[in-house]
Amino acid sequence: MDELDGNGAAGLLQEIFGTDMTVTAVRCASCGAVAPIGEAVVYAGGPGTVIRCRSCTSVLVVITQIRGMSCVDMMGIAALPHARSFRCTTMRVSSTRELMSSLRNAWRR
Ligand SMILES: [Zn+2]
Repeated sequence: MDELDGNGAAGLLQEIFGTDMTVTAVRCASCGAVAPIGEAVVYAGGPGTVIRCRSCTSVLVVITQIRGMSCVDMMGIAALPHARSFRCTTMRVSSTRELMSSLRNAWRR
């Protein structure tokens, strides 16, 4: 597997979230470190793309793409900015539209 910084996943994240996620700061659920995804460690080239916390190496996000579907597992992220009460849990979605509606529902709570 190739080790990259978070910018190595920029294109993939842009494709899924429709926005530049590398400048988005996230809080690691394991150690509490807050850092932009662009500073995380990305392992690409395996069956999926794994984004790990640079501080504690815990998994933040796993993205797998199977037959054109993107599965995004964000259970390693405790918080995203601009979402006061947002808590990530495991999300498995089959399309960008489904993902965005999951996020919108989570933000509304
Ligand atoms: Zn961490």
